[in-house]
This record gives sequence, C-alpha cells and structure tokens, in this order.
Amino acid sequence: MNQVIDQLLHNLVLAQELPVEQAGELAETLEVSTSSAGANLGYLIAAVLFIMGIKGMTHPRTAVRGNMLGALGMFIAVLVTLVSRDVSWSLIIVGIAVGTAGGTWLARTVEMTQMPQLVALFNGFGGIASVLVAGAELLKETPAENVVVAGIASGLTGLIGSVTFTGSLIAAGKLHELPQFKKPWSFDSQQIVCATLLVLALLLTWAMQDGTGIEYIFVVAISLVLGVLLVTPIGGADMPVVIALLNSYSGLAAAAAGFVIDNNVLIIAGSLVGASGLILCNIMCKAMNRSLPNVLFGKMEPGGDSASADEVYEGKIKSTSADEVAMLLDGVQRVVVVPGYGLAVAQAQHVVRELADLLEAEAVSVEYAIHPVAGRMPGHMNVLLAEADVPYDQLKEMDEINPTFAQCDVAIVIGANDVVNPVANTDPTSPIAGMPILNVHEARTVIMIKRSLSPGFAGIPNPLFAADNCLMLFGDGKQALVDLVAALKENQ
Ligand code: NDP
Repeated sequence: MNQVIDQLLHNLVLAQELPVEQAGELAETLEVSTSSAGANLGYLIAAVLFIMGIKGMTHPRTAVRGNMLGALGMFIAVLVTLVSRDVSWSLIIVGIAVGTAGGTWLARTVEMTQMPQLVALFNGFGGIASVLVAGAELLKETPAENVVVAGIASGLTGLIGSVTFTGSLIAAGKLHELPQFKKPWSFDSQQIVCATLLVLALLLTWAMQDGTGIEYIFVVAISLVLGVLLVTPIGGADMPVVIALLNSYSGLAAAAAGFVIDNNVLIIAGSLVGASGLILCNIMCKAMNRSLPNVLFGKMEPGGDSASADEVYEGKIKSTSADEVAMLLDGVQRVVVVPGYGLAVAQAQHVVRELADLLEAEAVSVEYAIHPVAGRMPGHMNVLLAEADVPYDQLKEMDEINPTFAQCDVAIVIGANDVVNPVANTDPTSPIAGMPILNVHEARTVIMIKRSLSPGFAGIPNPLFAADNCLMLFGDGKQALVDLVAALKENQ
C-alpha cells in the first residue's frame, strides 16, 4: 500500500501538481492513516472472533471451538498491536518469557479445585495491568489528542482497576480458605467509609480532565484501600457473585484503558468482558438469592445463629455401606446424581460415569442435577462431567430437575452439601437463607457420599443428613464409588 501511495505522489510531483515538500508531508500522513486502517481491520476481525468465541461457549458441545476462536482473536489483536505500534521488542520478549514461565508453572501446579482462586487472581492481574497502562500513558510527554477524555478515562482505569486488584486478592484468599481471610471482617460504618472513598476517587477522576497525572496516584491509592474494604465483609458463600463482579470490573478497567491509549480492540474486548461478567453476576445473584445492588453496596454479611451440628445430627444419622447401596439400586427406575465440590476434590468424575453406565445397562434412567453454584466456580460441575464424557443431555439445570425429585427412586449426592441444604428454605437467619437449592430431600431415598459430617463452604450443619430418607455413605468420593461399582458388578 505504501508503495502505491509513494508512486502516486511521485507522479503528482513530476506533473508539477504538488510541491515536493508537501508531497513528503502528505506521504507521511497517508502512510499513518493506512497503517491505522489496517490495524483497525485486524482489530475488527479479532472482535468478530471474540463474539463468535463467546457464542460458541454458550453450549458445551461448541465450547472448545469457541475457546479456540477467542484465543485466535486474542492472538490477532496482540500481533496487530505489536506490529502497528512503536514497541520496545526487547521488553516485549522479556515480558513474554516471564509470562510464559509463570503461566506454565501455574498450569502445572494449580489443582483443578484451586481454579476459582486462580480466576480471581487473573481478574486482579487484569485490573492492575490496566492501572499500569494508564499510569504509563500519563508519564508520556506528548499529550493525548483528547485530553479531557484521556484524563477521565485514566482516572476511571485507576479506580476500577485498583478496586479489582485488591478486591480479587482478598477474594482469592477467601476462596483458598486462608484463615486470615475466611471469616467476614468489617467495622462499624464501613459502608460510610467505602462511600466516602468512592466519592473522593470519583472527584479526583473528574479533576483529571486537565490531563495532569498527580491526582492519578491518589485515585489509585484510595481505590486499592476501597477494594479491600468492599470485599472483606462478604461471606465466603457469596464469593461466586463477587468473582463474577470482579471479572466484570476487570473488563471495564480494560475498556477504560482502551480510551486512554486510543486502542479500539481493548475497548471492545473490555466491554465484552464487562458485559458478560455482569450477566454472569446476575445469574449468580439469582442462584444465591442476592440482588445486584445488594452485591454492589457490599451488604452481604452472613448473619444468624444456625443450630449446632450436635443439635441437628445427634442420634439421627444412619450410615450405610457400598454393598447395601448396591442392593438398594437393584430394580430402581430413576436415579439422579447430584455432584458437588467433593466430586472435584475426589476427582470422581470418571467413576461416576462408570456407575451411570452400569445402571443404564440395567435400563435405569440416570440424570445429573446441576446447581449453578455447585463446586467453587460457575460451570464447575459441567466441566468435570464433560471431562468424563457424560452426555450433555443428561445434565439437568436446577429449575428443570427440581419438580421431578419426587419421582426419583434414589438421589446419589456426591460431595455436595450447601446446594442441597433445606435450611436455605426453612431458616431465614441462615447464611444461605433464600438460596435456591436442589430439592434432593424429596427423593424416595438419598445416598449422601462424603467423608464425614463436616459442613460445606457456608460452614453450617445440614439437616438432610439426619432425614429419615437419607443414608450416609462415608468415605472419599472416588473410593466410595469404586466400591459401589464393584458391589454392583458382583450383584449382576
Ligand atoms: P460444599 O462446599 O457445600 O460441600 C462440599 C462437601 O464435599 C463438603 O461437605 C465435604 O464434606 C465434601 N468433600 C470434600 N472432599 C471430599 C472428598 N474427597 N470426597 C467426598 N466428599 C468430599 O459444596 P457444594 O458444591 O454443595 O456447594 C458449593 C458451595 O461453594 C456453596 O456454598 C457456594 O456458594 C460456594 N461457592 C461456590 C462457587 C461457585 O461459583 N460455584 C464459588 C465460591 C463458593 P467432607 O469433608 O465431610 O467430605
């Protein structure tokens, strides 16, 4: 393209239609605009791939392809940015080397059950990266084309990115169940302090219209504190909503950074993450019975005095064995498997599939009841079961399967606890009060596979264990299922 422009201008100069000096200036301007048009075309292709990727990820069957399309879009976006901008290649190479080493180490060492913490950390890294980008832009000597927009966008990047960073670190600590973070922590008038800090940060952001950067440092410092104060009072059981919200924030910070450095793909990708995070947040809110304003203003303190474990369980627990359960399963028509966090811990997904295959060979109908917040991240159970090639049409969402539990002969609950705890419906002071649950207690018989009577993530006893129709099969999820499969094979 540049050669064509040069040739055209050369001809105009020869025909004495254009003075030589003006031809030089024009050539430079035209080259810049064609290269930015080329970059924008590349960004457009990347954006289309992102959208196709997200669409693909809406169904398990197309999710892998969706993921690949999204990754391809990101690769194109990075490539176009690197070749269309004046970058320091040595720094880029060092960055890629450090990132690759860190990413490889994480991929090799992080357990499947630690993914949510990792996602929280990624959100945080996304937030702080945007903060650094906007900060670096402010250090540049050449002022932005539109100082007002760039100034306010920098302030917003600093605010949202910093809240995302510290908020995500605290959320990761809570998900990792670090003792310092596990319990909600707050002080009197914490919300007033948060509101004051937010107003201050917004005022400083507004003041950044003149394009100077000194306010930026204060915006970032205030927002780092705000991120901590917003997340510390939130109970662990509400973490899915917080993670989805922080994910959305990291996207919004990236979009704001896109305005700062005038990069279209960053604005598009950031907006997509921001919007999809909010949608996910809304779905999670419904699943956990929280309203979005409730989440935004951090009023998610768990309250109430739940009954003690002794009061709930004493003298009422009936334990069973793999052989007994195998006999119970003889001649049943419909079995519903309810997976939970313990299934992920035990890595029992493959043996669950084996159990289902055995039952189906005896003409038993087998379905899986999927609660939206079972496990430790949205979609956790879907991913685990997909790994074991469980047919997608056997996975039933909560709303679909709940009305059918009364027609279920045996519900086999594997490492799920909070998501089947009827207290959510009966005790308004419980930390999970109002959370929709899987109505497992309505099944004719419930087999609860877990290692002990220990509580789940919300830390409260579960009266289902003591119910008349519930039998406890104590043991590691995988081992218990291996024993059950062996017992079933023996009975055949
Ligand atoms: P829970 O955390 O309520 O319970 C999991 C149970 O698994 C425990 O009671 C534990 O009992 C058992 N368990 C652990 N290891 C094993 C093992 N190796 N074999 C068998 N059982 C095991 O899980 P749920 O899935 O029911 O609920 C999810 C909870 O996590 C909800 O409170 C939700 O709000 C929260 N959460 C969800 C997120 C999401 O996005 N999905 C994110 C963050 C939190 P024992 O020790 O006796 O074996």
